[in-house]
Amino acid sequence: MKQAQHRIAELEIGASEHADVVEDLHLHQEELRVQNEDLRQAQDALAAASRRYQDLFDFAPVGYFLLDDKGVILEANVTACLLLEQPHDALLRRPMRLHLSAEARLAFDLFLVEAASGRQARTLETLVQNHDREPLPVQITLLVDRTERAPRFRLAVVDIRERRQADEQRKLAAVMFEESNEGMLVTDPIGRIQRVNRAFTVVTGYAEPEVIGHKPSMLASGRHDAVFYKSMWDRLQNSGSWMGEIWNRRKNGEIYPEWLKINAVRDVHGDIRHFVGIFSDISEHKGGGQEVERLALYDTLTDLPNRVLFVERLKHALIRAHRDGRPVALLYLDLDRFKSVNDTLGHQTGDLLLQQVAARLRQIVRNSDTVARLGGDEFAVVLADLGDHAAAVEATRRVADEIREHLARPFHIGGHEMVTGSSIGIALYPQDGETYSDLVKNADIAMYHAKQNGADGHAFFVPEMNARVVRRVSLETALRAAVRREELKLVYQPVVDSVAERVVGVEALLRWDGPQGPVSPLEFIPVLEDLGLGHDVARWVLATASREVSDWQFDDGAQPWLSVNFSPSQLHRFLLAWLTDALDHGRLPARRLMIEVTEDHFHHNVDGMISSLEDIRRLGARVALDDFGTGHSSLGRLRHFPIDLVKIDRSFVNGLPHDHKDLAIVNTIISMARHLGLDFLAEGVESEGQLNMLRRQGCGLIQGYIFARPMPARECLDWCETYHGRAGRDGT
Ligand code: C2E
Ligand code: MG
Ligand code: MG
Repeated sequence: MKQAQHRIAELEIGASEHADVVEDLHLHQEELRVQNEDLRQAQDALAAASRRYQDLFDFAPVGYFLLDDKGVILEANVTACLLLEQPHDALLRRPMRLHLSAEARLAFDLFLVEAASGRQARTLETLVQNHDREPLPVQITLLVDRTERAPRFRLAVVDIRERRQADEQRKLAAVMFEESNEGMLVTDPIGRIQRVNRAFTVVTGYAEPEVIGHKPSMLASGRHDAVFYKSMWDRLQNSGSWMGEIWNRRKNGEIYPEWLKINAVRDVHGDIRHFVGIFSDISEHKGGGQEVERLALYDTLTDLPNRVLFVERLKHALIRAHRDGRPVALLYLDLDRFKSVNDTLGHQTGDLLLQQVAARLRQIVRNSDTVARLGGDEFAVVLADLGDHAAAVEATRRVADEIREHLARPFHIGGHEMVTGSSIGIALYPQDGETYSDLVKNADIAMYHAKQNGADGHAFFVPEMNARVVRRVSLETALRAAVRREELKLVYQPVVDSVAERVVGVEALLRWDGPQGPVSPLEFIPVLEDLGLGHDVARWVLATASREVSDWQFDDGAQPWLSVNFSPSQLHRFLLAWLTDALDHGRLPARRLMIEVTEDHFHHNVDGMISSLEDIRRLGARVALDDFGTGHSSLGRLRHFPIDLVKIDRSFVNGLPHDHKDLAIVNTIISMARHLGLDFLAEGVESEGQLNMLRRQGCGLIQGYIFARPMPARECLDWCETYHGRAGRDGT
């Protein structure tokens, strides 16, 4: 019985355990259900996210492409299909390049290749070609996907047509602004000038840098009162524009009427950002008959009296002077180096320079005196009421000095700083001429002499000057004929390495036998340039010398370099084409060509000069600085010049071996050249004493009569072969 009871108790325990298990099972089942539910929700969320992503991908404002490593499209979003105007399926498995315009394809291929190798920036602007539509400009940004074995490209493509159009609009606006015949200025909201155009400068005489940051009131003529300007300003603030006639003052002091329209430019919030003023000079419409007179008597560029009015005024002054028994001074003035400003920086700059020169001249003389522009870069000044002769000479000298001093100060034009000196010739009434025409002729002769005696000086006329002018005129005539008849010749002077006893180069030098015997190139080359024959002759020199020297070769295979002298006007923008042409025709490799220039080349427009020389060197030719030490540049500036060789001028070699100053200069040049890694040679070496001293200072490269004079080509080659061969034969 006890046993049975025990058994029942066991069963009861079993039953309750069973109930527990069932309970557990229920719980688990519930947990699983909840987990399932979570999972389903997560799946739903994922699907939603994926749809959202797909929408984002498809309708992003950017065309997305996935390309394989061959550039074949694997995937493209809706925007991409729209960009290429193709249904989705038609795009897939086709090379992307086929959708670009033919001329853009190669660049695109390269873009992919470079991207794959990880080298280049990842954007490309290119052209999509849809059917026969106008190509569509797009920008592609690229990402390389390297998760697969072969790289894949992810491309984002944006339509940039509008940006392009905006760019073009901007460029167009800039050109219209700059080229407009009407003067324009742009100010900030409080009226400070930010930009002006070219016509502004032409009308007012002020270059842009002179007005930036200033208010337009700097042009005020004084003709309008404060009420006028206040009402203009009020109107501008309220209605945003003003229009009317206003009198302004040019830089040269002249007052003129202009028709002016001002508009306010507002930003999106309606705030004023700029004022834009547009004006035209209406002084011409005003005067009617006066205007005709002005055109006939005044120079349009500078507004100075022209030659006609000058003659009239001078004649008038002479009549008065005759009556009062008083002297009159006539100054003839010519700008130095003006021609090369025109040649190197262009006529527009030349014109602006002339205007500034005119303004400075006007500042110097009294109102009662006349400043006139005779044409080109020639000006004249007439001074009257000067007291007796001695006082007149004194006063004239003072004015001449003042003019030179004013004109020697740098001019600032279009971002360039330039200096131009002046040469002044002076003739005094009555002793240098009693008539107007004698006076003019003699002032002109005196000016010519001032120029000859080195620029930037003045000269009073003296009767002996006449003879030299006659010579000049006959020189011009003879020279013209000589060029026509091809009577100019070239000679060559060797440059030797006096230590190794080898010939390293030859310099081509021009020769002309004039009617009265040989004339120095120093005299006739400037005349050639004045005659406008400089370029033709220079081309001829280059072509002839390259041809004659190209096949010179010595026994040991060495070939000499060829030096050709250039004057400043030859370093122009066509230089490269010119040189290439000459070298090709002459069959002279560029590395054997050396262009010689002097420091005076750098006198103005240093930047232009440097870039010309860099062009020469880029071609493979070298540059030598000739006559070094005689010019204006400092040793310090030398390091900025792109040159290879320095030629120590004959004037320093001259004093060797005894003159201590010359020796010091030569030493300085040598050590400086060494310091800068430049080659150097001494020219004009005539004596053993000079040679030995130079060699002791370490200068072995020599050009001079001690070895050889300049000779015709054949003779020079013979000499070179003999000299060059000597080293070998001597066994040294
Ligand atoms: P440069 O380029 O400095 O040429 C050197 C001048 O010194 C040459 O005078 C030459 O004959 C002379 N010379 C050489 N060795 C000696 C010497 O030992 N003693 C002396 N007293 N003189 C020596 P050249 O031929 O009369 O030329 C004078 C200048 O004319 C040249 O100076 C050069 O500036 C210019 N020139 C010559 N040919 C041309 C050319 O084709 N084009 C240009 N633009 N200028 C040239
Ligand atoms: Mg030379
Ligand atoms: Mg020289």
